[in-house]
Amino acid sequence: MTTPTTHTFKAEVKQLLYILAHSLYKERDIFLRELISNASDALTRMHFEMLTNRAVLDPDAELAVHIETPETTGDEPKKLIIKDSGIGMTRAEMETNLGTIAQSGARAFIEKIGTGQLDPSDVIGQFGVGFYSVFMVADEVRVVSRSYHLDGEAWAWISDGGEEYRIEPAEKTDRGTEIHITLKKEADEFAQAWKLRQVIKKHSDFVRFPIYVGTERANQQTSLWRKNPSEVAADDYKQFYQQLTLDFQEPLATIHFSSDAPVNVRALLFIPAQREKNILAARKEPGLLLYSHNVLIQEYCTDLLPKWLGFADGVVDSEDLPLNVSRETVQNNRVMRQLGETIRKRVLRELKNISDNDAEKYEKFWNEYSRAFREAIATDMDAKEQVLPLFRYASSKSDGKLISLDEYINEMQEGQTEIYFVLGDDLKSVAHSPHLDPFHARALQVLYWVDPLDALIAPMLNEYQGKKFRNIDDAELELPEEKQEDEKREEETQTPEYDFNVLLGRFTSVLGERVLDVRASKVLKDSPIRLVSPKDDMERERQRLSRYFDKEYKVPKKILEVNRNHPLIANLARTLHDHPDSELAKLTIEQLYDSALVQEGLHPNPAEMLPRIEKLLELAVEKE
Ligand code: ADP
Ligand code: MG
Repeated sequence: MTTPTTHTFKAEVKQLLYILAHSLYKERDIFLRELISNASDALTRMHFEMLTNRAVLDPDAELAVHIETPETTGDEPKKLIIKDSGIGMTRAEMETNLGTIAQSGARAFIEKIGTGQLDPSDVIGQFGVGFYSVFMVADEVRVVSRSYHLDGEAWAWISDGGEEYRIEPAEKTDRGTEIHITLKKEADEFAQAWKLRQVIKKHSDFVRFPIYVGTERANQQTSLWRKNPSEVAADDYKQFYQQLTLDFQEPLATIHFSSDAPVNVRALLFIPAQREKNILAARKEPGLLLYSHNVLIQEYCTDLLPKWLGFADGVVDSEDLPLNVSRETVQNNRVMRQLGETIRKRVLRELKNISDNDAEKYEKFWNEYSRAFREAIATDMDAKEQVLPLFRYASSKSDGKLISLDEYINEMQEGQTEIYFVLGDDLKSVAHSPHLDPFHARALQVLYWVDPLDALIAPMLNEYQGKKFRNIDDAELELPEEKQEDEKREEETQTPEYDFNVLLGRFTSVLGERVLDVRASKVLKDSPIRLVSPKDDMERERQRLSRYFDKEYKVPKKILEVNRNHPLIANLARTLHDHPDSELAKLTIEQLYDSALVQEGLHPNPAEMLPRIEKLLELAVEKE
């Protein structure tokens, strides 16, 4: 088909174009970054294509970006052309890439900027709609492209950023894409070479291919990672990172090192400030840039770092890798294993450094990435020893601060041999856990494990530094004697023996199959009851998980412990003594059990309790 056709943009794209054309963004110059980034992507694809296929149009053309500013006269609008010798687009590709597939990205972008928290020019590239930023400066855009295929034809895509675009045959004999921009009057500064150089220096200095403005090279294109760290300015790292990832934030950590043994490696790695960036950034796959002898051999290499460290970004370059490695050989290659080992150690060492020297920064890191470390333990047997020292938890004695396992061990009491933890839904509810009663009384520290994955990894964590981990909902838990017996307690209400046994019997008959046993508690102080796990109960964590992940969930059966010293229990016993068939007592027992389930984070549906609570209130008010 060689006839011109006209197409209408989809609603989301129209809306996006309208916003871009009518808003006054302070950073309009990022359109150039986006177009150069697209050119660079197209050149990278060409580079990889030619590794295996020389039957392409212009196989010897330099892989580069050329920017031209044609002369114009008088009132004629100013023009700007950005050309690349990349992979080019066929007619069909133009239609999809510049028209159709942008929809979802456009919608996500509009939603994101609608919240007003982000500067659109910072993030547009992350949504796969960077191309459209050209309409911040253009009255009209004409994209002329010729695909690398030998039998390709040249086509043009034309739009003024309104409702429609047009596709028509075009003249172009060489490979690649040209973006012809008719500049808006208020954006005519972009027709000046010095301005373009300035913007390139600012946003695209580290693009991997040469960018020429006229005949002069405008980007420095040095391989920053091959430099000596002492020669690199902090700002260069930041710029390099931002141009590599299109993340507008500064990285949380930068790791630059080289080594010759056991394997030659130069690496420049980054930890992004936000893990979420990678989700937003629809266009960026995870993985590291892999170079051999300063030549890019893989763009998104995920074989070097374990999956759970996949948040690290950056470049790895090795002279020990052959230039012609294929993906398969990369995977089963001894050098690759050594490289992976080396950089994994370096990343973990850097994190350890931060955790030792910059608590605030480490806390930021931990809040963002702790999930990855829990995944590490769940999925990678070897990871445990490396990552456990990096874990941080709130505890019953840390006052909201996060502490490490080493700190916990340092603060252990004389005679304490185990690391105590309590599982729960969130910090607020575990802080009120009845299981903590005996620990408070003995001033023993308990770690709060409130991430859903904690329940998954709890059974996998046997011990740390020779200290066993111990879930404190354990029925068999043995604690050292309490130091100072609380004498006041002796005077407190105590349920008489005979009433108490009747009460336990009533708990058993009301709750029936739902509990394994009902017993008097030896440890509870401030809580009326608690649910404890029988010895070696492997189900307890599994059931908790099914609930988190919305799987079929069965409330696990527990042992119910009753605190005979608690006023509520004493009163309940008295009520039962006076009125053996009391409805109020029955409802109270049901409610105590349900509340305990909620407290444990094990209730399937807390809302179910509401009618009973109403009934209880009704009875209480009646009594008044
Ligand atoms: P993204 O780059 O995130 O995919 P863009 O809106 O910047 O999103 O570009 C959309 C698509 O248009 C690209 O994915 C690519 O397929 C195509 N494209 C844009 N510019 C070029 C170019 N210079 N050469 C080849 N294809 C291009
Ligand atoms: Mg792009």
